[in-house]
Amino acid sequence: MNVPKYYIWTIGCQMNKAESQRVADYLEVLGYKAAPVLQSADLVVLNTCVVRQSAESKVIGTLGYLKGVKYEKPDFSILVTGCFVDSDVKRLEHNFPQVDLFFKPGDYIGLRNWAKEKGIDILEDITSLSSAKNVAVSAFVPIIQGCNNFCSYCIVPYRLGRERSRPIEDVVREVTELVRRGAKEATLLGQNVNSYGHDLPSQPDLGTLLTELNCVEGLARIRFLTSHPKDVTQKFIRDIASLTNVCEYMNLPLQAGDNDVLKAMRRGYTVEQYRQLVGNIRNCISGIALGTDVIVGFPGESEEQFERTLAMLEDIRFDTVHVAAYSPRPNTIAARKYDDNVSPDTKKERLNKVETLQAKVAGDINSWLKGEKVEVLVEGNKSGKWYGRTRNNKLVFFESDADCLGQLVDVTITKTSPWALQA
Ligand code: SAM
Ligand code: SF4
Repeated sequence: MNVPKYYIWTIGCQMNKAESQRVADYLEVLGYKAAPVLQSADLVVLNTCVVRQSAESKVIGTLGYLKGVKYEKPDFSILVTGCFVDSDVKRLEHNFPQVDLFFKPGDYIGLRNWAKEKGIDILEDITSLSSAKNVAVSAFVPIIQGCNNFCSYCIVPYRLGRERSRPIEDVVREVTELVRRGAKEATLLGQNVNSYGHDLPSQPDLGTLLTELNCVEGLARIRFLTSHPKDVTQKFIRDIASLTNVCEYMNLPLQAGDNDVLKAMRRGYTVEQYRQLVGNIRNCISGIALGTDVIVGFPGESEEQFERTLAMLEDIRFDTVHVAAYSPRPNTIAARKYDDNVSPDTKKERLNKVETLQAKVAGDINSWLKGEKVEVLVEGNKSGKWYGRTRNNKLVFFESDADCLGQLVDVTITKTSPWALQA
């Protein structure tokens, strides 16, 4: 009998990439094998994102393409997960009749029931991850789903619902299992990992979870992503400073460098509080690298307000900046309250200015690393070069005849650029 094959199409953030890995694990438990390309698959899973209109349009375009594939191959199955799947599944089923199943991220029971109805023999208990398959050196582990913040521009709380933390034991068990299967690094994921635990009975915080994970034998490095600045406490900074396996990198989305814009975004902090936080973090954790997210062209953002954001980026000197042009999302507070009145050309221009500035800043920061010895956790090999990251999240490429996969290797930096280092 031919083994059925799956293909996973993913768009969006790290959370989605992590979720796709889990869906792949579950499909393998169901007896599927990975297909190298979509065209040779019997089943495709679209793991979707609707944070920006451009991403949603790509999802709809791909669903249109798949309608044609299904017409040619009626046995082809189309499954859709991610934040495109809202609570009105009936409407989605009506609008996209080519789709066999819409399921919310993490709803493996729905996936299992669908497989049962299709008459697929389930090889193992789908709720366990006990497959013997090896995993990547660096694994992503969701620890909190959803978001309670309702930043005015953001669709996430509407699509993914309120915050739900996974119990500590669950996370520790999963990480221990991933390490047994070959992982050396775990990145804990959530829209706001710093609100982890408030909804659990014993109300642990992220520091407590990291402290437990710091003791997992064989786990060399721990990362976490994303931290909402309003929830990063002094205790947390002290906690991570003292944990040897927790890496010196934090993603701290700023979004804007002007207090009126921050207020309209409902971010819950001021420019002054953000600067103070960065100062505290840098004082306590030497060598820490910082990443951030910025939105340009938020409704009403004036040239002066944008210039304040730019000046703040220049002043703080982040290691990485993800910049996005504001995109109005249905039902969000900003879309209901404000006109999207910054023109597409102005948004593009501001976006380019941020990218140009950041290339210069990151180029400068990285140039200081030339000649330095750094420790790299090797994640793979691309075109004959090994690659991996430093503890503070710099991507490094180097050559070696040895099998370096999964090893912590000390290398000396020979060449730098804003985006990667050669060693
Ligand atoms: N939870 C994180 C935080 O506190 O910022 C980030 C999660 S959000 C889904 C990822 C990034 O997408 C945000 O940091 C923001 O820069 C961007 N984003 C979200 N909504 C957006 C919108 N309507 N238009 C443009 N960018 C948006
Ligand atoms: Fe969206 Fe704000 Fe929640 Fe981040 S913290 S997911 S930007 S609502």
